[in-house]
Amino acid sequence: MSISLIAGSVRESATLALNEKAAILRARGEPLIHLGGGEPKAKAPVDALLAAAALLNSGEIRYTPSAGTPAMKAAIIRYTHEFYGRKVTPYEVIASSGAKQAVMVALRAILDPMDEVVFPAPYWVSYPEMVRLCGAVPVPVVPEDGTLVPSTQDILNGSGSHTKAVILNSPSNPSGLMIPPEVIKDVVEFCEKEGLYLIMDDIYHRLTFDGKRWTNPYTYAIDLGKTSRLIVINGVSKAYAMTGLRLGWAVANPRLIEVMTNIQSHETSGPAGLLQAAAVAAINGVQSSVENLRTQLENRKNILMARLRAFDGVKVTEPDGTFYAFADFSAYEKDSLKLSTFLLDKVQVATVPGVAFGRDGHLRISYCGPEKDVMEGIERIKWALDPNSPNELYLGDRKLIRDWT
Ligand code: PMP
Repeated sequence: MSISLIAGSVRESATLALNEKAAILRARGEPLIHLGGGEPKAKAPVDALLAAAALLNSGEIRYTPSAGTPAMKAAIIRYTHEFYGRKVTPYEVIASSGAKQAVMVALRAILDPMDEVVFPAPYWVSYPEMVRLCGAVPVPVVPEDGTLVPSTQDILNGSGSHTKAVILNSPSNPSGLMIPPEVIKDVVEFCEKEGLYLIMDDIYHRLTFDGKRWTNPYTYAIDLGKTSRLIVINGVSKAYAMTGLRLGWAVANPRLIEVMTNIQSHETSGPAGLLQAAAVAAINGVQSSVENLRTQLENRKNILMARLRAFDGVKVTEPDGTFYAFADFSAYEKDSLKLSTFLLDKVQVATVPGVAFGRDGHLRISYCGPEKDVMEGIERIKWALDPNSPNELYLGDRKLIRDWT
């Protein structure tokens, strides 16, 4: 069959594939614990639901401008002012169907075939595939010191004459770690000096723990005008627990926004009006749900860390934010796909293999689900991996037999 070479090189999303497998196990009645998810289980803010319901009731469901409704743009402008201290114009913002689309459209707008895009590994699973979809070349860089957080030198090491852009995600999916302010400063300055685009994926910036704050990249940018190369990505999925509402955005220079709008206008038109109405209401409405979610996630992170610290052989750096931790299980098994498949098959615990994020030997563990799932999930993993475990483990009234060594 003749398939486009570019499209044929794109791999399926490891996280979405895992979700499907997990859903099948659940439907079969298996006592599955899902530590692989990428979405908070909190309810969407009431303001968002009421706004969507009101628009639905009106029956006036129409096309919207390609870059978002005026109200949506105004909400993004307000958000950017509140969190980034920057006053931007409507020409500097675009609303998309999720932060995912905002990143994709930004890449489409800046990349030519064979351009290179540098980002640290572990990385969000979609970055390499999105870059490939543009016919460009992903350049993941593994920190030289073996940690999960890049230094400035790591980013410089990955950059060369073909580099067109750098992507940073802080706090990070999958590690939950933040990039230190001095590295963000250096990379902002480096990109300005070299004329490279810098995509800052800030989708988790409000979900940080223990009083830590994410770094606002604009603090270090000198060029904030028409030639600014900084592209800041955000969305309502994570902080407002509105993953199904598919609304994200980008803030960038007016010419780039114009090009992104042109691309989006031919691909999907503007994001759905209903979802924009909900997102506007979430951004402008009562914000207590974000803090409630953040505190809940911080508690779960503490529970997970306590369990993992007591797990001999597992190494993990305490997350600064998000709802993920990226734990090194290589003392047990270096092949992360083999390990996550084993854990799913034997003890019905879903995790995402580190190889999907460019770092084998690790598992991404999510703590966006209930606390008891976090506790029981780790207990089952420990039982499965520790050769000194008893032969039997009860899951409710169901007995698991440890028939492996
Ligand atoms: N960036 C990162 C780092 C993410 O983890 C995700 C969601 N998994 C996204 C972007 C996309 O978010 P959205 O739901 O807004 O498309």
